Amino acid sequence: MNPSAAPSPTPIMLLKRLALPLPGLLILPILALALALSGLVWTVLRHQQAGADQRHAREELRQGMQVARVMLHPIGQQPAQGQAPALRVPPTALQAGLRQALQWMPNVQVAVLTQERVDGAWQPSTGEAPVWTDAYEALSLLERKALTAPTPDGSPTEFDANGQVHAALSVATPDAPGGRAVVWLRAEPNVTDPGWARARWQLMLGTLVGCLLAGSLLWRQGWRVRQGLRNLSGWTHRATQEEWPEVPVPAGPTELHQLGLRMRELTHYRHHREDDIRQTAFRDTLTHLPNRAYFQVRLDQQISEARQGQHSGALVTLDLQRFKHVNAVLGQASGDTLLRKVALRLSATLPDAHHLLGRVGGNQFACLIPRADKVSAMQLAKRLLHSMDTPFELDGQAIDLMAQAGVALFPEDGRNANEVLSHAEMAMNVARQKITSVMVYSPDMDPDQAASLSLLTELKQAVNRHELKLYLQPKICLSTNAVLGAEALIRWQHPEKGLIQPEGFIPFAEQTGFIGVLSLWVVDQAATLWRTWHDAGLTLKIAVNLSTRDLMDRDLPQHLHAILTRHQVPPGAMVLEITEGATMDDPAHAQQILTRLSELGFLLSIDDFGTGYSSLAYLKTLPVQELKIDKSFVLNMQSDLNDAKIVRSIIDLAHNLGMSVVAEGLESAKSWKLLEGLHCNEAQGFFISPPMPAGEFVDWVRAWQAPSVQDEYLNTDFTNIL
Ligand code: C2E
Ligand code: CA
Ligand code: CA
Repeated sequence: MNPSAAPSPTPIMLLKRLALPLPGLLILPILALALALSGLVWTVLRHQQAGADQRHAREELRQGMQVARVMLHPIGQQPAQGQAPALRVPPTALQAGLRQALQWMPNVQVAVLTQERVDGAWQPSTGEAPVWTDAYEALSLLERKALTAPTPDGSPTEFDANGQVHAALSVATPDAPGGRAVVWLRAEPNVTDPGWARARWQLMLGTLVGCLLAGSLLWRQGWRVRQGLRNLSGWTHRATQEEWPEVPVPAGPTELHQLGLRMRELTHYRHHREDDIRQTAFRDTLTHLPNRAYFQVRLDQQISEARQGQHSGALVTLDLQRFKHVNAVLGQASGDTLLRKVALRLSATLPDAHHLLGRVGGNQFACLIPRADKVSAMQLAKRLLHSMDTPFELDGQAIDLMAQAGVALFPEDGRNANEVLSHAEMAMNVARQKITSVMVYSPDMDPDQAASLSLLTELKQAVNRHELKLYLQPKICLSTNAVLGAEALIRWQHPEKGLIQPEGFIPFAEQTGFIGVLSLWVVDQAATLWRTWHDAGLTLKIAVNLSTRDLMDRDLPQHLHAILTRHQVPPGAMVLEITEGATMDDPAHAQQILTRLSELGFLLSIDDFGTGYSSLAYLKTLPVQELKIDKSFVLNMQSDLNDAKIVRSIIDLAHNLGMSVVAEGLESAKSWKLLEGLHCNEAQGFFISPPMPAGEFVDWVRAWQAPSVQDEYLNTDFTNIL
């Protein structure tokens, strides 16, 4: 169809176009009113015209009566005042004479009535009897009386009847004493329309009806306008409470109806707009899954529903390990593709549509289960993790992804989405630390949140305010008794709380990720110290502790290298102590970082050895030079044969793998003798020295004299294991 071809207008449309300047809601009432008014005006005009006609007819009758009086009594013989005229000629002669005399008034008809009949009825005096008899009969009793009764002063009477004007003069008849005759003149008012009198009433009635109609239409329109406006204003009120409720379009009048339609269109438009905005604001553009913001909204809803319905639901969070690595090695685009594949696989694993899957972080997904208990949530978490077992195919390569999951239940584990999400994430982090796949949140995982926050702020300030101190604990060579170096141990000199030991803030720094800053600070301090020792002619090694979190940082090797370069410290002078657990969290990733560090020349040491679960096979693959036996085995080894045996095994193992062994927690001379006998390479412990402020170290080294342990007595059980 040609859109420019306008359809030919219908009569209704034409009418509407004509009536355009009129407000639609007033068209009908105005038309009705105009009709009524024009009828009224016409009626008034006609009424005036009729009045004039009647006056004229009456005037003719009056003149006719005067002629009649003159004919009855010639001039000069008029009857006295109050005396009735008398008829001296026969009525027929009078009638004929009068007709003759009133010929110039064709509208006036003349009759003379006499009362000759026995029944006393009045009769016209001529042969035209039927006409006048009918006219007489048509009069009402009152009119007949007005016609025939003599007036006290003998003057004529006038009255209107049957649309005509009448005049009557009662005269005495001297020939028949006591008898009377009536001279009756009547005239038709000269009205053009003979049915005018009736039409006049019809017009009046029409006007009245028109007025009533206009009034009622106006009232009805007013009522509809009021009702329509009320509905619309009710809608505006509701619109502040609900989100764009449907507009109640008023049925009429047209303007209001149109307004309602426009408002409805507008709300539909707003609906769509808001949907669009919601879509973009609440969807993750990469995976098209709900994003964290939307997830939180839905979670909040589910939490309050669970609270009302007194049931429980669960949230599972899932973190992909080594994902950063994929991004780094294969590039951002491949990383994105992989994320989409993960999203698809996870979605396909969900049992039904009630489970909401979202991407709540870079490589973090979450699944909301509206109704679940601990067991079913764990099951789902495991199923989701299990779905990751099959490697992902990316550009022809098989990519192995590992994930950890955390579970939090609601409403018990949090009052709102934020709390539940962060608790599930907390459980997920614990799972990672414990090298297990899934953990369910428990309150003891959660250090006091508020306190944590202020602690974090304080800790950040501690770095800038130089409140952190480095302590050093010497390491001694058990074969030469020489000082080989020291382990750097951090302390916090808090302005109010005094000296805080690492247990008081290191785990927290690990949880919050701040440990990265601390580790770099320690390495920088250690490098500075080493430089001063070197300049003072001391060639020692310095050991620093790295945490699990540090090993997750791909950039760690290059950061450390940069620091050492800055201070002109050879990497071989620095031992990096890494706990066994740290290497097990994400073995492949840890291995890469460690390899890189080793390549750069750093010495690597497995700290707290014996507390983790690393396999020999795995240990063999790590580029480490040193095993540090956990102090729990060393502390009592001089009295606990089992501990002594464990220490011996570890030493043998390390040596078999070509590693050097350090025993930490050396507290007695007997233990020293035992360790020496077991060919442990190095020792560290309170027996040698507790950690000391770094500034005291050089003096301590210079003053160091190895204790003599030769005289220590060892039980035979112990000498036997040597
Ligand atoms: P660690 O790496 O195993 O450090 C050895 C801890 O054993 C030190 O405690 C030291 O004071 C203590 N120790 C040494 N010899 C003996 C002994 O003969 N008997 C007993 N009972 N204890 C002994 P400290 O300094 O309190 O450090 C505790 C832990 O804090 C460290 O364990 C390490 O895991 C962590 N830490 C300390 N400084 C740092 C740091 O700079 N970075 C990181 N990531 N962790 C650190
Ligand atoms: Ca250590
Ligand atoms: Ca240790």
